[in-house]
Amino acid sequence: MPSEAQTAELVSLLNDTREQLAYYKELGATGAEKTAPPANVVEDPTQLARPAASRETRPDTSASAPPSDSLFGDLSAPPVRIQKSTESFEDIWSDVGNCTRCPLHEGRTNIVHTDGNRKARLMFVGEAPGADEDAQARPFVGRAGQLLTKIIEAIGLKREEVLIGNVNRCRPPGNRPPTPEEASMCKPFLLREIAVVQPEVIVVLGNTAMRNLLDIKQGITRVRGQFQDYHGVKVMPTFHPAYLLRDPSKKKETWEDLKNVRDYLDTTRKPEN
Ligand code: URA
Repeated sequence: MPSEAQTAELVSLLNDTREQLAYYKELGATGAEKTAPPANVVEDPTQLARPAASRETRPDTSASAPPSDSLFGDLSAPPVRIQKSTESFEDIWSDVGNCTRCPLHEGRTNIVHTDGNRKARLMFVGEAPGADEDAQARPFVGRAGQLLTKIIEAIGLKREEVLIGNVNRCRPPGNRPPTPEEASMCKPFLLREIAVVQPEVIVVLGNTAMRNLLDIKQGITRVRGQFQDYHGVKVMPTFHPAYLLRDPSKKKETWEDLKNVRDYLDTTRKPEN
């Protein structure tokens, strides 16, 4: 009979492996599809259903000595961190091509790629382009985008200093949220851009973008304002500017969230030479 510590280690190892496979799958890798866990494996709900937030506080087991009755020595996988990528946005966009991977291509005028500073410390991610973005081939240029620009300026930055993108690059009909399948087709390109830029903070705008980027079941109202973790990148969920246009009373909370982002960036800023 394995000891309790050994069982915990086994569960943790399986969960780390599953997390790694999920990340590679998000990046578009195939051939490593998840299969159902064997019936006799007890899934630890604190590991599997845990919001990304709490993963931040997980001790980095890769550096610590294994317990003396360890089954696997230090075999446990380190948490998956986004590795710096040396490809260019143009390489990524060339892979997007004249995309027909999901049905959203049928109604688009333009593919709307990520825009802004490719050395940004801060990135904003929305759900998908609207009519103005589809017409101009740039993210967040309509009314919601103008409000986003004001939000960026309110924390002392210029729009050109940050990076702005969407989980989906084609406008959904009637501005409906993209389906999970549509999001999963497009998201790998965003993840590749994130790996190129390695922003220190990503602000996810609204429920759909948050749920598509993070493995979170709760809604934005509950999670907003609390830093989450996306494979080593800090993620701040907040309300979508289009929602703020409909309910301006929520601007106060968004301002609080963005002030926290600004404070974090200020405290982690490297001194200039
Ligand atoms: N809403 C989004 O989520 N993205 C845009 O680019 C514009 C509006």
